[in-house]
Formats: sequence, structure tokens, C-alpha cells
Amino acid sequence: MRKIEHIGVAVKSLAVSIPVFEKLLNTSCYKTESVEAEKVNTAFFKKGESKIELLESSDENGVIAKFIEKKGEGMHHIAFDVENIEAEMKRLQEEGFVLLNEKPKLGADNKLICFLHPKGTNGVLVELCQERK
Ligand code: ZN
Repeated sequence: MRKIEHIGVAVKSLAVSIPVFEKLLNTSCYKTESVEAEKVNTAFFKKGESKIELLESSDENGVIAKFIEKKGEGMHHIAFDVENIEAEMKRLQEEGFVLLNEKPKLGADNKLICFLHPKGTNGVLVELCQERK
């Protein structure tokens, strides 16, 4: 793990939340992207090295919709930048963490990603992400 790559925030509506975060961060959203397989629409903000990813469900049964139903809007996950996602997945698995997917999958922002089960990380949903080459 090299650094925090971004923090994911679950929102009900990107249309409502993008202007809020634009005002908060005093910067424009630089990218929106839909990830069909994950049933999410995303919007990204950047301040220095730090990124915020807003996540809106594109389907009423999507994981973000279910998250908001249970916990309301708010912090959803912390994503760490890794150099070699498969090596990091193997290392974490050997340390006893439970991976939510066996193989890296394609995420937003041209990344290969993998989530860890929050039960093993004190309730924090952790995402590993590696830039695709
Ligand atoms: Zn993320």
C-alpha cells in the first residue's frame, strides 16, 4: 500500500451532491463515470494528491442503494493505491483478511480494484486499487 488513493462517499443523487462538493472543495468535479458492472455512477474530485469519489446507485438493488438504505448517506470506503494488486491481495489473504472478490475487477477511473470484507477491518470497507497500464 502506497497511499490513500481516494475516499468513497455514498450519495443518493450525484445531481444534488456534485454542487455540494464543488462548493466544499472549491474545485470542479473533473470526471463522472458509470461502472455498469457495479451499478454505480461516480464523480471524482481532486485536491492536491487527495481524491474524493462520490457514488450513486444506478439501480435500486445496487450495493450503494442497499448501503444507503441501511446506513444513510456518508463515508463508504477508503481506497489504497497499490503497485501490484495481485501481490497485495495474496499478502492480505495470508494475513487472514477476507477478500470480497477473488480476482481484481475493473473499477472506475481506469483502475483494477478489490474490496476487503469490513468484518476483518473494524468495519471499514477497504478498496485496493492499481492503475491499469
Ligand atoms: Zn472507490
